[in-house]
Amino acid sequence: MFNEERRFEQPIRWAMVGGGRGSQIGYIHRAAAARDNLFQLVAGAFDINPERCIDFGKNLGVDPSRCYSDYKVMFEEEAKREDGIEAVSIATPNKFHYEMCKAALEAGLHVICEKPLCFTVEEAEELKAIAESKNRVIGVTYGYTGYQMVHQARKMIENGDLGEIRIINMQFAHGWHSTEVEANDPGTKWRVSPEVSGPTYVLGDIGTHALYLAEVMVPDLEIKELMCTRQSFIESRTPLEDNAFVLMHFEGGAVGNLWASAVNAGAIHEQKIRVVGSKASIEWWDEHPNQLVYEVQGEPKRLLDRGHGYLYKDDPAVAADRIGCGHAEGLFESWANLYHRFALAMNATSKGETLDHLWFPGIKAGIDGVRFLEKCVESADNGAKWVDYK
Ligand code: NAD
Repeated sequence: MFNEERRFEQPIRWAMVGGGRGSQIGYIHRAAAARDNLFQLVAGAFDINPERCIDFGKNLGVDPSRCYSDYKVMFEEEAKREDGIEAVSIATPNKFHYEMCKAALEAGLHVICEKPLCFTVEEAEELKAIAESKNRVIGVTYGYTGYQMVHQARKMIENGDLGEIRIINMQFAHGWHSTEVEANDPGTKWRVSPEVSGPTYVLGDIGTHALYLAEVMVPDLEIKELMCTRQSFIESRTPLEDNAFVLMHFEGGAVGNLWASAVNAGAIHEQKIRVVGSKASIEWWDEHPNQLVYEVQGEPKRLLDRGHGYLYKDDPAVAADRIGCGHAEGLFESWANLYHRFALAMNATSKGETLDHLWFPGIKAGIDGVRFLEKCVESADNGAKWVDYK
């Protein structure tokens, strides 16, 4: 149902801030946006360096006169054009997200922003209020949540296949920063610098991905209180953490834990979520995203596979099969599924239609992530005490 359907008349005229040549995440934004022809890249402030911005923009087929040295200039100049941009994606280091999102919304643009959305809940709520007053969409790129099997998990939980949800075990614990790699890697250096990264490192960089997976699978789940301990095994990263553990009590009695780490030596990604119910459990692992482990108590373990007829078909996200059973889908498809929905949401919002039936990681996902980080820091920096979540 997703492939190459023309969902509205003209592609959304779209720009990027950040995501320049050599950036970690710029390419996947562009690949995801291009997948269904719902966005057209027409402008950009791709790079902190103006010459590199123009050179790279030309490389992407963007008119050099629309490659800007500064995002503020881009918003001003594009607003003067009849064919000016309608939406922008922000893929810069964290410290710019808030000011860039705010400026974009105030310029009347729809926004897709990287996580963490900003540094404080107050800022996030402000962005929400501006978006509402301007009737604009904010999408947040929790890029693992477009996978078909994540939505199969959500549907199974909604349908009661697991029984009552008791335990959620989340982790995103890689080993790539087990040594001081930032000495020679600017992309890691800013992540461990509080003024650029914000109040956390691994919790915000990867922990919120795992948290949001849980939120997608079990949307009714609300954290009641949490306790966090965080530490830096590479001393120079202090006060930011390269490892953290979080314990959570949810409203209604379920419990959860989250392990975020960049020093899990030997591990590639280890982003996993296990949801345990009173009858059965499911487990999803982003290194094998086409599969979902389904274990019913007292029965043989089952491995559910993407694209099969036995998956729930009444849910559009589960039915979002692009290449048929037996062929592996991956991160590009997951992101493309998100960008597809961002486009539908922007189009519907611009026309004054409701978004009630459209799932996508929006402003609530952004706020929830920032609140989680705030609460984790509050707990960890006060001796790992339990803190109320509200
Ligand atoms: P990076 O350091 O590799 O690249 C950052 C890019 O932004 C560079 O091209 C740089 O020139 C540009 N830039 C920096 N300041 C700018 C400014 N003021 N104006 C215009 N361009 C500017 O960073 P990255 O790893 O690509 O991360 C970027 C963001 O994406 C971060 O917020 C990070 O948390 C997020 N991220 C998200 C995912 C995900 O799965 N959603 C994965 C990786 C990174």
